[in-house]
Amino acid sequence: MRPTVLCFSGLDPSGGAGLQADIESIGATGAHAAIACTAITVQSSQKVFGFEPVSSALLIEQAKAVLNDLPVQAIKSGMLGTVENIHAIAELFDTRVIRHGTPYVLDPVLVANSGGSLGDPATLVKAFGKLLPHATLITPNTHEIRALSSRDDLHDAAKYLNDQGVKAVLVKTSHDYQTGDIEQFLYINGQIEHTSLVPRLIGEYHGSGCSLASHIAGKLAMGDDLVDAIVHADAWIHRTLEYADIPHPDDGDAQMMPNRFFHV
Ligand code: PLP
Repeated sequence: MRPTVLCFSGLDPSGGAGLQADIESIGATGAHAAIACTAITVQSSQKVFGFEPVSSALLIEQAKAVLNDLPVQAIKSGMLGTVENIHAIAELFDTRVIRHGTPYVLDPVLVANSGGSLGDPATLVKAFGKLLPHATLITPNTHEIRALSSRDDLHDAAKYLNDQGVKAVLVKTSHDYQTGDIEQFLYINGQIEHTSLVPRLIGEYHGSGCSLASHIAGKLAMGDDLVDAIVHADAWIHRTLEYADIPHPDDGDAQMMPNRFFHV
């Protein structure tokens, strides 16, 4: 049996983000993706129309069915939707139903890239406090890291998250500037451990954050160390974006769909 990544993520019917992004991005690492579904969203490549969360009891039943069955070597979370779901997952860590030491990649989804609601950001931010101490890596964008830390300076914000118990913080500056290469920093214990320049591609991509976090989780499940997993994931994501599908060629502001089967 391939190493398994248990993902807590929502269904995006357009297939660009959420659990489909997880399945495809983890599959590309050689690991197997298992999904505990947190919510069903209604959205297109352009817009979120709404969502219905799964109850925390049903979420935990799904997770336990996987944890009792498959060789879970990493955890990944994306859209969690409700405070109850966040608390329920934290309890799986606290009670060691999730094996202590299992690498955990936390993508702190607060709003969709398109701007649509995937839960109430203020209450989600507060609840994430319970998950932070369990995270091996958190992958916020600059909006998310500032919301989670109440700090504007990225270095201070990353140090704050490390102080909350998150082992490593990976932050990309893509939302801060509109031009130039994208700088990416990995902070461990409040210090920059690794930096990279990622070439910027024009346009907005639906589900690129989900894909990055889950590809890293897949690589960790396969035994890569953290920096190697990030370097591999960056190179892979870049190709998925280079080959992205364009659902609305006449609308320059519309989101593109990463092509995670660019090699086919
Ligand atoms: N998870 C779900 C279910 C989503 O629908 C979205 C965005 O639409 C996300 C996560 C976050 O996606 P992104 O990687 O574009 O930030």
